Amino acid sequence: MIALNKFLLVGLGLIAIQLISCENSSAEQHWHKGNLHTHSLWSDGDDFPEMIIQWYKDNDYQFIALSDHNTIGDSEFWYEIKERERKHKTLEKYQNRFGDWVETKTDSGKTLVRLKTFEELQSKFQLPDSFLVIKSEEVTSSFENKPVHINVTNIEEKIDPIRGTSVLDVMQRTLDAVHEQRKSLNIPMFAHINHPNFGYGISTEDLKQLNGERFFEVYNGHPAVNNEGDDTHVDTETMWDLINIHYYKEGKPLMFGVATDDSHRYHTFSSKDSNTGRGWVMVNSKKLATEDLISAMENGDFYASTGVHLKKFYTDQNQIEIEVGPEVGVNYEIIFMGYKKGAEAVVALKKVKGTSASYTFQKEDVFVRVSINSDAKKENPIMVDEIKKAWTQPILAP
Ligand SMILES: [Zn+2]
Ligand SMILES: [Zn+2]
Repeated sequence: MIALNKFLLVGLGLIAIQLISCENSSAEQHWHKGNLHTHSLWSDGDDFPEMIIQWYKDNDYQFIALSDHNTIGDSEFWYEIKERERKHKTLEKYQNRFGDWVETKTDSGKTLVRLKTFEELQSKFQLPDSFLVIKSEEVTSSFENKPVHINVTNIEEKIDPIRGTSVLDVMQRTLDAVHEQRKSLNIPMFAHINHPNFGYGISTEDLKQLNGERFFEVYNGHPAVNNEGDDTHVDTETMWDLINIHYYKEGKPLMFGVATDDSHRYHTFSSKDSNTGRGWVMVNSKKLATEDLISAMENGDFYASTGVHLKKFYTDQNQIEIEVGPEVGVNYEIIFMGYKKGAEAVVALKKVKGTSASYTFQKEDVFVRVSINSDAKKENPIMVDEIKKAWTQPILAP
């Protein structure tokens, strides 16, 4: 009897522990939505930064990185209102929304508006536990006629465009500069490679050779970036897998994929305009603080989305479990994409139609990621019949 009781107690205890750990695995997920790639009048965007930040804040984002080309918005800059602004009533809209906060002056018949610095913008919009404004720069370099654009999230000091002897050299020098700044200032920050297929500037081979890169844009919402590739260039999702097969073989940490807006146009909306709301990341972090978001992203604890929302994404030693937060009337397909030892390519290991699925790791699996497709068409897409998707990060099989 005593022995049986003991057995029962131990058994119940185990069940209790299992229930707690299962509950924790989903209860502990705190997803924060953010866009890491945005332009304003500080470079070639067509609106004041406050209007842009306000849009993201009003549309349920928890963080936004302002990433203008080759500037961190830390100087005194009076922007001259030109024909484009008059056409879009850019200043009027800004004044209507922000009133006395707006600073203007006239000089020789020109209307000038002072762009607020990053620090001013951050103190105006950042709210503890609800909204972060992250300092960023799109370090915009090139090699010959090939664009090499790299975002630096949570940058502290501006990095000037980098010159080098090849596309790879420019990228590597940029990354090295980011790592050096991070180390010398002891501030967490990371670089992500932007739109590799923009002008077909960055090839899969270039990305394979890089050392120290962890992130690239698997999706960029700018209509000119060729996420889908063409007859002679692979799409960015295929590129991602090819890079990771190589990184795995070389013993490098795997590359993670982000989705971003790369928004520039805030007054005209079409598939030819780089608008807001097209691509974002969802980061699982208990605290909404820049350091925590960066650390979660560096652990791969996030997914990229163009409209599919995940309710749960959980992995342990045995399996991956995933559950979509479905939209009414939308159908989903969950595809486990994996690379097996000795294989040539990443292939679909398992496909499930529905809103939840799990995958049990097999002996030969090296890494597995999940692609979630839907049949929901995107509003304001960048290409015909674009559907809402999500991509989790690749997970190394135990
Ligand atoms: Zn760019
Ligand atoms: Zn950009």
